[in-house]
Amino acid sequence: MSVPILLYHQIGQLPRRKMSGRSLIVDPKSFYTQMKWLKKLGYQGISMREGMPYIRGEKTGKVVIITFDDGFVNVLENAAPAMAEFGFTSTNYFVANQTGGSNEWDQKSGAPFVPCMTKEQIREWADLGHEVGAHTLDHAHLSQCSEEEARRQIIDSKAILEDITGMPVPSFAYPYGDNNASHRKIVEEAGFENATTTVRRRATAQDDPFGIPRIYVRRNDILPLFLFKTLLQRRK
Ligand SMILES: [Zn+2]
Repeated sequence: MSVPILLYHQIGQLPRRKMSGRSLIVDPKSFYTQMKWLKKLGYQGISMREGMPYIRGEKTGKVVIITFDDGFVNVLENAAPAMAEFGFTSTNYFVANQTGGSNEWDQKSGAPFVPCMTKEQIREWADLGHEVGAHTLDHAHLSQCSEEEARRQIIDSKAILEDITGMPVPSFAYPYGDNNASHRKIVEEAGFENATTTVRRRATAQDDPFGIPRIYVRRNDILPLFLFKTLLQRRK
């Protein structure tokens, strides 16, 4: 069995001015419609921690794993209510040094300011039944870090988020999907149980649990394309 893992970033309105990364901002109405159709077709939206047994083939069922990168406030505001309506859960990967901060890493390339969840909002996210995953300390390009720095980015992000939530943080996502064999080993040694990348296809039991592929959902994906990408497209 293969399991689709959806990758979202922001759920919100487009800023007025032109900017890079617009395609990663999904409109709240589109997100709602996507969730509604998954439910209608009998799928359950779940988090990475709940989804791993399906990926490993220990459980079977109609599931779609929902993930968000970067921990933006607009996901709590615009996506959480829709998921609550359909009884879905998801995983958000937080940049541990940006709690109550913003997308500083994107602003360097000209993107507008977008706030990241505060500690209280991260706890609210967890209380709603969603998973808190880790996405390094600073949204680091791991391949550009020394091994020592990569270790710090991975290990400390887990510790900070566990401290905020009082819960284990088993799931990690590589910023920019940037990873190699040594990063995967560090992630495993740090005590994570899974890590997702930006390789685009459905996940299967043959995938390295520290290099799991996902499916990008883009602003301009019309509903039939969304459903095709998520539910029908075969793994390459
Ligand atoms: Zn990211």
